[in-house]
This record gives sequence, C-alpha cells and structure tokens, in this order.
Amino acid sequence: MSMDAQSVSEKLRSSGLLRTQGLIGGKWLDSYDNKTIKVNNPATGEIIADVACMGTKETNDAIASSYEAFTSWSRLTAGERSKVLRRWYDLLIAHKEELGQLITLEQGKPLKEAIGEVAYGASFIEYYAEEAKRVYGDIIPPNLSDRRLLVLKQPVGVVGAITPWNFPLAMITRKVGPALASGCTVVVKPSELTPLTALAAAELALQAGVPPGALNVVMGNAPEIGDALLTSPQVRKITFTGSTAVGKKLMAAAAPTVKKVSLELGGNAPSIVFDDADLDVAVKGTLAAKFRNSGQTCVCANRVLVQDGIYDKFAEAFSEAVQKLEVGDGFRDGTTQGPLINDAAVQKVETFVQDAVSKGAKIIIGGKRHSLGMTFYEPTVIRDVSDNMIMSKEEIFGPVAPLIRFKTEEDAIRIANDTIAGLAAYIFTNSVQRSWRVFEALEYGLVGVNEGLISTEVAPFGGVKQSGLGREGSKYGMDEYLEIKYVCLGDMNRH
Ligand code: ADP
Repeated sequence: MSMDAQSVSEKLRSSGLLRTQGLIGGKWLDSYDNKTIKVNNPATGEIIADVACMGTKETNDAIASSYEAFTSWSRLTAGERSKVLRRWYDLLIAHKEELGQLITLEQGKPLKEAIGEVAYGASFIEYYAEEAKRVYGDIIPPNLSDRRLLVLKQPVGVVGAITPWNFPLAMITRKVGPALASGCTVVVKPSELTPLTALAAAELALQAGVPPGALNVVMGNAPEIGDALLTSPQVRKITFTGSTAVGKKLMAAAAPTVKKVSLELGGNAPSIVFDDADLDVAVKGTLAAKFRNSGQTCVCANRVLVQDGIYDKFAEAFSEAVQKLEVGDGFRDGTTQGPLINDAAVQKVETFVQDAVSKGAKIIIGGKRHSLGMTFYEPTVIRDVSDNMIMSKEEIFGPVAPLIRFKTEEDAIRIANDTIAGLAAYIFTNSVQRSWRVFEALEYGLVGVNEGLISTEVAPFGGVKQSGLGREGSKYGMDEYLEIKYVCLGDMNRH
C-alpha cells in the first residue's frame, strides 16, 4: 500500500523513534546554544525535523563520557557484551518497518530497499554479537626455555565514527557493531542529511541496555565535530565512510595523535561484460550493481565495460531493462528509483552527462531530469563513452550507466585498473579460467563474478589504492577495533 510522507512522519513522532536531540552520556540533549539544523525529505523538499546542531563542546563531552564508559564496558565479559548486542539486533528487527520508513523519509530510497537496508544493517549487530566471543589470543612457543610468550587482543579504546547519508543505518552498524563487541566505546557522527535513522537506532541501543556513554551520537557542524574527535588524545581510532577528499583530510589530521584509521572512500567500479557472458545474467547483475539506491553507493558500477562482440546486444537488452525502472517517491508502491539526495548531486550528474555528450557519447535513454521535478533524474544509459570523459574517471553517484567498448581481456583489465580507486569490480563471463585470470588481475578489494550485489556482513568489505584502508564486516572487521599485546613471562623455571 502506498503511503504519504506526512502521515508516516506523524506516526513515527508518536512512536518515540523520531528523535531530534543528540545522545551524550546516555542523555538526550539539545545543542548547548540551542542551534538546530533542518532535515529534509529529498522526494518532496518538506522539512521532516529540526535536529540539534552540535559542535566542539558537545563532542568533547561525548568523548569524555565515552572515555569513562570504556573502563566498565571493556571489562565486561564478551558474553555480557554479546547479550546486549543481541538485544539491540532484536529491537532493530522488531522495528524494521519504522526504521525503513525513517530511511525513506530522510534519504529517499524506495521503502522496500530501505527495509532491506535495516535487515542488512542489523545483520552486523547480530554477527558481531556472535563474533564478540571469538576474539582469541595466542600462545607462542618460547625462544628461551624459562619464558612463556602470550598474545592478547584488547579493545583500542574510544572510537570516533563518521558516516555518510547513503546508508543511514548500515554504515553506522558496521562500525558500531564490531567496536562495541570488542569492548570499545563510540562517538558517532552521522551525516547531517540523515541523522534521524542514527538517532532512532541509538534509542533502540539504549533500550537494549547499551550503557550510558558507550554509544554517543553528535551531529551538526561537521568540521568542528571532526576536529574535536581528531585532536583528542582520548580518541584512539577514527573510522570513516564518505568522500575520498574528506577521508584524506581526516587521515592527515589523525597523524598528530597517531590514531588507528579505517577509511571507506569513493569507488569507480567497473562492470566488465565479456563476449562469453550469459546476456541475461550480465544485464541483471549490471542493473543491480548500477541502479541500487539510484546509483548512490560507493560500490555502484560506475563504468560498464562491454566487449566488442556483445556490445550492441548488451546495449539493447540493458537499455530495455533500464526503461522498466520506475522513478518516484519511495513511499509509492512499485517505485524502484528514488530521488537523488540533493540538487548538488543532480547538478554533478548533469555536468558529467553534458561533458560526455560534448565529447561524442550518445544517450540511449534518459539523460535529463525527470518530469517529477525535485531531484529526480531519469535512469540513463550512454554509449560510446571513452576514457577522456569525466564519467569514466570520477564517481557519478547517480543513475547513469556509461557503456565503454573494449576488444581484448588485457584491454578490459588495463581500463578497469586505470583509476586511483579500487573498491568493487564486477565481471560477467561463463569461463571459469577467465574469471580467475581477471579477478586475480583486478586491483580491487571486492569482486563480483556473475553477480552484482555482493555485500554481506559475513564477508570483508573495503578498498585498495585510494578507496581506503581496513575492512568492515566478517571476522576481519573485528581486527580494526583491537590492539595486539605481547606478554613475556620470564623466570619461569623457578620452583
Ligand atoms: P558525501 O559525499 O557522502 O556527503 P562527505 O565525505 O562529504 O561525503 O561526508 C561523509 C561524512 O563526513 C558526513 O558525515 C559529513 O558530515 C562528514 N564530514 C564532511 N566534512 C568533514 C570534516 N571536515 N570533518 C569531519 N567530518 C566531515
């Protein structure tokens, strides 16, 4: 049943899940100078809420409360922390409809996709509730007979987590899940564009028994909050998902206090379709990889590389599939493509498309703003795109699929790797030998073979080159929040 945004936000308000204050030391607080920022629904432009606009002072208090909470939270047994996380997971799932509605309201993605994000986001909390109990150390065979050598893994301490707007829940849970599981405490700064989902998730964390200070949420003045987190010697780790430009700034600013840093930055994902691919599988996989969240994910296919022999057939079948995508308000039944996050995002897409067309690319379908107005953009396929066009170098972050022609497997690998980014890549081929050759040669952190949707909490997610540092999800994700301590016991031969 289609719903309207107005009645959804009224219902959410009365459910107690639409919170507007920050969370510091277990208390919901306004900003100290009572400043607020507005949160908009990108599909309608309507203001959903005024939320606290916080800065340096509030962040310093959040850090202090996290630092204090670390002593007790880190000393709980893994089993005790696990139970709290499991309760949080259960509450996130119990409220998945409301959380999904919040995501659609503030981010725009279709409700079904938003509820999918809640299940995906919650899965990190469940996974790390389980993984908490598996942080094993080591006993090392000693180098001298009177010694015993041990390795302990211990939580790094207070973590600052800075997250973007495209996955308002999942980008938080994949950081906070392993952080809390390992015994760290966290100050989260969600995007100012989508703070409401973060605040609702934090409310459910309190209900689950996450103690005051173990999880704080501050939002508002991003540079001030970032500076406070980065300059504090009490914050031992920064974990960030967002643009490459901001990620580099944060990495540099983490240097004076030598913080541990995890970065998940921009991508420029190739989807490579070989002549020997199954056409239907390649169309379905590339469609999913390109148009999820209207193209606004860092693993979205940014360049579709298609081999000579299948190029025309693929272009036709893919365009037909794109034609069937339904653009509209995320609350309307049947919508598969919501709006872009804001007008700047649409202007960027327009610039990229103009640039490509001026250099000889041809639009097959789409290529302009949608008649619905606002920030809706038509799902677009462009052919004859080449490497001198901006869209083959930079992240489009919108519903535009550029088709690039290649001749040989070597060409495909060279073009695919010719970028500073290295997050996700997709290949479509029916040859097992080719798929091994190509995925081994691709300079990427994630590769999908005959599949366009590959993210899961049980597998490591992260990039190489300038796409970032570290991995999120899976058993590897836990290491990002742990320090290794070596202990040498001497004089062990004495009776
Ligand atoms: P996006 O393109 O996803 O908006 P950004 O890198 O601009 O990418 O934003 C990702 C997150 O980083 C957001 O929470 C944003 O508020 C935050 N951010 C942006 N600039 C800074 C900064 N100077 N210091 C700390 N956080 C920042």
